[in-house]
Amino acid sequence: MSRADTMHGHALITAKNVDLSNCDRELVQYPGAIQGHGAMLIVDEAGYIIRQASENCAALIGRPAADLLGKNIEEVFGPRAPEMLEQLNRMSLENGPVHVVRESFAGSAMGVNIFAHRCDGALILELEVISSQPSEPTAHLYSQVRETIAMLEATSGVQNCFDLAVQRIRSFTGYDRVMAYRFAEDGSGQVVAEAKCDTLEPYLGLHYPATDIPAPARRLFGLSWLRHLPDVDYVQARLVPETNPVTGRPVDMSYAILRSVSAMYTGYLKNMGVHSTMVMPLMKEGELWGLISAMHHSGPRHVPYEARMAAEFLAHMLSMLMAGKENAESYSQRLHMTAVTDQLVEALCRDPNLHACLGSPDAPVTLLSLLPAQGAAVVSEGRVSLLGATPSRNDVIELAAWLSTQNQLVFNTDRLPEMFPAAAQYKSVCSGILSARVSTKSPEFLIWFRPEQIEVVNWAGDPKKPVKISEAEGELRLQPRNSFALWKESVLGRSEPWKRSEKEAVANLRQAILDIIISRAEEIQRINQRLSQANEELDSFAYVASHDLKEPLRGVHHMASFLKRGKELELSDASMEQVDTILKLTRRMDDLIESLLQYSRTGRVELVLEPTNLDALVDEAFVPCRRLLNETGADLRRPAPLGSAICDRVRIREVLTNLISNALKYNDKEERWVEIGVEDANPPRYYVRDNGIGISEESTDRIFEIFRRVHDKDKFGGGNGAGLTIARRTIERHGGKLWVESEVDQGSTFYFTLSPETP
Ligand code: ADP
Repeated sequence: MSRADTMHGHALITAKNVDLSNCDRELVQYPGAIQGHGAMLIVDEAGYIIRQASENCAALIGRPAADLLGKNIEEVFGPRAPEMLEQLNRMSLENGPVHVVRESFAGSAMGVNIFAHRCDGALILELEVISSQPSEPTAHLYSQVRETIAMLEATSGVQNCFDLAVQRIRSFTGYDRVMAYRFAEDGSGQVVAEAKCDTLEPYLGLHYPATDIPAPARRLFGLSWLRHLPDVDYVQARLVPETNPVTGRPVDMSYAILRSVSAMYTGYLKNMGVHSTMVMPLMKEGELWGLISAMHHSGPRHVPYEARMAAEFLAHMLSMLMAGKENAESYSQRLHMTAVTDQLVEALCRDPNLHACLGSPDAPVTLLSLLPAQGAAVVSEGRVSLLGATPSRNDVIELAAWLSTQNQLVFNTDRLPEMFPAAAQYKSVCSGILSARVSTKSPEFLIWFRPEQIEVVNWAGDPKKPVKISEAEGELRLQPRNSFALWKESVLGRSEPWKRSEKEAVANLRQAILDIIISRAEEIQRINQRLSQANEELDSFAYVASHDLKEPLRGVHHMASFLKRGKELELSDASMEQVDTILKLTRRMDDLIESLLQYSRTGRVELVLEPTNLDALVDEAFVPCRRLLNETGADLRRPAPLGSAICDRVRIREVLTNLISNALKYNDKEERWVEIGVEDANPPRYYVRDNGIGISEESTDRIFEIFRRVHDKDKFGGGNGAGLTIARRTIERHGGKLWVESEVDQGSTFYFTLSPETP
């Protein structure tokens, strides 16, 4: 733990509160000390007075730190000071260290590169020792970088760019190993490219738990383009005094080149046999996307400033190229998804059936065309359509029920079994789902499935035990794991994660579907309004017309009766027969008009809804059928009581009478029977069943048309064909349904309900 923790009142980590988040809390930007290969001066810009100095100043610039405090920097830099100050005034010092000048001091054999930057109200001067290792001539480095950039630009695909970049960075930094490292959303990482000397064990493909690079360290990586640690065994030099007397705070070294690093980090590196590192962030749209990490195993390595600049420049270029190439890849995927969405929406505009347009394997485009998934399902109107590799129909129904409890319009997870344990059963086809709810009322969903990524991840340690605690020298402290042995862990129950663009495409499709549904519903409402208006008009027309027809018809009837009675003797037999026919036809016409009137009345008259004992109502309905019952000798079956229901008793009695008399009439069997009962459903289904002549399939709709009779005209007597039309209208006015199931020669069952179906 750094001392800054205690200075800032942060709780010390003890055996009791130790957990992984402690690593995240370590305040790495306030170490109060620097690495020993340079010196640091903290300068108050008002008067350029030195306020703090590193304790190694004596060795590096020939004067002890205590001597420097309170002095103007001119005293340190002598005749070079004016030139330096002029440089400092010209430079922008807010974006991290810039190289000011190369200097060597009397009393010290080593030359230094001087870097300056401003942070938290202080001017920070860093004097980095120029390494004795021969550095590449700058011109040579420049041509190498230029050549590498040209090669990177010509390389296709993100992976090839990485492979090339790590090789080149290794070649001009001379590191034993250079890796490109990519962060996943959960903070864990994977080595995606590596260049190394042959003797080293490869790390390519290894996954690292998120705790390996704690959040504060990740934040710092994002702040500076390059972090160099020449020697993990460095002797640190503390700042004197500890706190800046001007600001009253310890120095924020977030950007400093020489910042002393966390003991956890050096301990971790030592355990890996690493002596020196150089790390460059890979940024995408301001976010830390990954790292280029160079490691030296064969000893300390101080990379000269010029080579560092070249590497930094390359990492910068790589970030931009990679972002560009990744964006191009995701742009073409987005274009594809937009095109598929348009096609799906077009199909839905022609036919709003989700199953036919999105979930039928015969359709030219389906849900599976939209995005990479191995299976998909449409759950709508109580039906399930499945495409590709999916859980079973019942599993999908249960999953949809669970999804409807999640209260999310678009839902996604790449680890379903963790959230919904029942999914563990079918994780091999579905460990990840992306779904869209397409109805606000009923649980209707579009769902995409991704299988378990049977991914054997090479964790760089035991992810369940990522740190070890040791009690060395009586002091309790956290240590990173001291073994870097390969650890293999299967990531079970996890699928490839869903990309943001994929979730957006699904959200867009969902919105388009809802728009279509809403405009359809509005259209249906408009049509319904027009229809009920037309019905009303038709009803009143039928009423007026039939009413007005009755009058002249009555006249015709009277005249014919009069003719028959008065002139009986004068008419020939043939004429008399014709008069009889007129009388018969007028009676028939009267009957038709009466039915028409009754039909129009059914549409207009207010229903009198009241709790009604249906069994008593059936008894009453039988009264008009009694003669027919006696004549046919039919057996009457009433297997169970119907109970009661809320309905208009007069109208429903008429319906029952009609159904019972039809059941008795349209029957040619020796032993006839009629059964009246109820089937348990919601709402209950009442029925009248017979063993009569039955109705062919093509006639089952026609029998409900007014004045339509479908049996042999000379048989079965019967009425005028209006009974069922009126019965259906009555039932529909109750909110119920009337329908028939029948088989020719076997019999028919007429069902009806008295209230709407509940979803
Ligand atoms: P109607 O009985 O006055 O002819 P309906 O509207 O009641 O008129 O019935 C229409 C037609 O449906 C009948 O003419 C008959 O052809 C057929 N039908 C009705 N009920 C039955 C039944 N139970 N079995 C067979 N056919 C039937």
